[in-house]
Amino acid sequence: MPMGTDESRSRKRTTVSESSSGQEWNIPSVEERMAFFVRFAALDLNGLREGDLLNLKSDVRAALSWLPEWGDEISLEILRETQPTVLRELEEVAQRNELNRRIGLTEDEPFAVRAIHPKLLKRIKFLSIVPGNGSVVQADLRTAILVTLELAFLPPFDARRVRQCAAQACSRLFHAEHLNQFFCTPRHAHREWRRLKDQEDGRQAAGSAQASPRKGKRAHKEA
Ligand SMILES: [Zn+2]
Repeated sequence: MPMGTDESRSRKRTTVSESSSGQEWNIPSVEERMAFFVRFAALDLNGLREGDLLNLKSDVRAALSWLPEWGDEISLEILRETQPTVLRELEEVAQRNELNRRIGLTEDEPFAVRAIHPKLLKRIKFLSIVPGNGSVVQADLRTAILVTLELAFLPPFDARRVRQCAAQACSRLFHAEHLNQFFCTPRHAHREWRRLKDQEDGRQAAGSAQASPRKGKRAHKEA
């Protein structure tokens, strides 16, 4: 991945349009971008310490490939305003994925078409497509976040990675690092395994003939 930050900074007057004529953008991969958005959606923006806030601002800048000369300082107030929309958009996708999982993921239920509202499109000052690297939206902060989020759903991003935890009493949003990951944390994976196993053991102890077809036959007790 080209690291163009220093170069970008040294060209104060560089606009997005000029990026195609040589400027290297420091554009994160779609995976990195989406992982950021998922983290951001779940953050408690009211409980941030000063250091956390600085880190967040720097993460936002990196995720959006934001250049300092664009002004519109990354403000906590705008982040707070924008966060619920980011969460809602991601949850829509995660809920579809969860539905797919419950029906067995035998086929990929088509995702809802992601739409970018015309009002948002009108607020874009510049949309830069950097072939092979991705896109950069130059706009006010809120618009940049929401449009960059939707654009991150384009290939090569695999939208199945945006998920809700499948553990009981948890529906936390997370970005799956691999497609076999169905729980937000190893802890929840274990907790759910435990719960299902106890359930199964209970059923078997009760002498039920309805043995679960789930894996975990090692737990099977001699009847
Ligand atoms: Zn969980």
